Amino acid sequence: MHDVVEKVYEQVVARNRGEVEFHQAVHEVLESLDPVIAKHPHYAEGALLERIVEPERQIMFRVPWVDDAGQVHVNRGFRIEFNSALGPYKGGLRFHPSVNAGIIKFLGFEQIFKNALTAQGIGGGKGGSDFDPHGRSDAEVMRFCQSFMTELARHIGPSTDVPAGDIGVGGREIGYMFGQYKRLRNSYDAGVLTGKGLAWGGSLVRTEATGYGAVLFAQSMLSTKGESLEGKKVIVSGAGNVAIYAIEKAQQLGATPITFSDSSGYVVDEAGVDLELLKQVKEVERGRVADYVERRPGARLVTGGSVWDVPGDVALPCATQNELDGDAAATLLRGGCGVVSEGANMPSTPEAVEAFQKAGILFGPGKAANAGGVATSALEMEQNAGRTRWDFATAEAKLTGIMADIHDSCVAAAEEYGRPGDYVLGANAAGFTRVADVMIAHGIV
Ligand code: NDP
Repeated sequence: MHDVVEKVYEQVVARNRGEVEFHQAVHEVLESLDPVIAKHPHYAEGALLERIVEPERQIMFRVPWVDDAGQVHVNRGFRIEFNSALGPYKGGLRFHPSVNAGIIKFLGFEQIFKNALTAQGIGGGKGGSDFDPHGRSDAEVMRFCQSFMTELARHIGPSTDVPAGDIGVGGREIGYMFGQYKRLRNSYDAGVLTGKGLAWGGSLVRTEATGYGAVLFAQSMLSTKGESLEGKKVIVSGAGNVAIYAIEKAQQLGATPITFSDSSGYVVDEAGVDLELLKQVKEVERGRVADYVERRPGARLVTGGSVWDVPGDVALPCATQNELDGDAAATLLRGGCGVVSEGANMPSTPEAVEAFQKAGILFGPGKAANAGGVATSALEMEQNAGRTRWDFATAEAKLTGIMADIHDSCVAAAEEYGRPGDYVLGANAAGFTRVADVMIAHGIV
């Protein structure tokens, strides 16, 4: 690492003790910036790097709520408003017991560059809580969401900060939070949250967007080699929003996804995933992957090992951070995997990324490959502002165009900085320079 960059990284570690995921995300971006700083030294002036790694604002709050038995629980809420150079803070809310300040900070940091890549005028932010919605009744989830929004409402707004969903936050949670926001503000600010229901300001294609986008990104990477997804065997992790719609788009493009997973294990369905059954189990019944296997002859549930033990041509990690380590990467490569497109945020560990890059396979990092979700959120904001609604084909065509532009920006930046085909460098350099140029224009703020 360049001396200046190394110093910034050391400061981040010293100032944010124990926040290992945040350190990892910062390291990955800063490491990519060596060739950028070497070519354009002004990016290391005016403490620009020191400013970009420091959130503009961090909010942490108590979320008390009452369960169905009358017992009081206290969770912790977070919102990190990381960077508003390009527009209002934008990024999801995650409800998962593992959530802490470091996780939200890593996600917020990634979001800055991802949002810049979409070129839609959105800044970076992220939030969430260590609340676990699994096994909670609708009424409990509603009371939690209302308590969470009672505090969050004072910090967000359609031109200030626009949250959306992430792990554990889907249409149900966004609905409860929007209802509470509207009640507190006495104002129908549809643009304050994205991922809304279609009847109250949501956008068609938002539900599908992240998974679709990750597959479109894989297709674009393959096209640089004159190949396509047609006929390819696809290994998918996760069984939530991103995984389900990655499977759907992969099937539409002629590939055969044969796996999915949740925290209870993974499923192998060699005949190809039965998407309707998976949606019924996960979206309608909120069940576990074992429920799919019970109703699907030929599918098997594996509770030990990892989904990456299954050989395939393409891997789509769509569950969570650091779910694919160096050993898993080696196993995937031995099994013939030639493409990895990250639907989740930072699912591959640094060792895994290094293994993929050394092997010279196509590797699309999350901040580029999964940007379709936030891009379609920005399209939702655009429709809300215009009090209009586009049909599915219009919204999907816009998503497809944005994903192609992101891919091409990564390719161009990787070439400009001397590492053609390196999508990690390409995504980081293209995202960083867009944000950095505007921060310089705005002065020391
Ligand atoms: P969901 O909550 O819909 O699904 C998450 C899935 O991953 C579930 O199957 C869950 O299993 C599994 N999972 C989560 N944590 C773990 C864990 N620690 N170990 C094993 N399995 C786990 O979330 P999304 O699909 O929305 O998000 C998935 C990933 O995509 C996240 O990294 C998120 O940040 C990223 N992402 C999401 C976007 C979106 O638009 N939704 C946009 C961009 C990125 P279980 O139910 O058993 O916990």
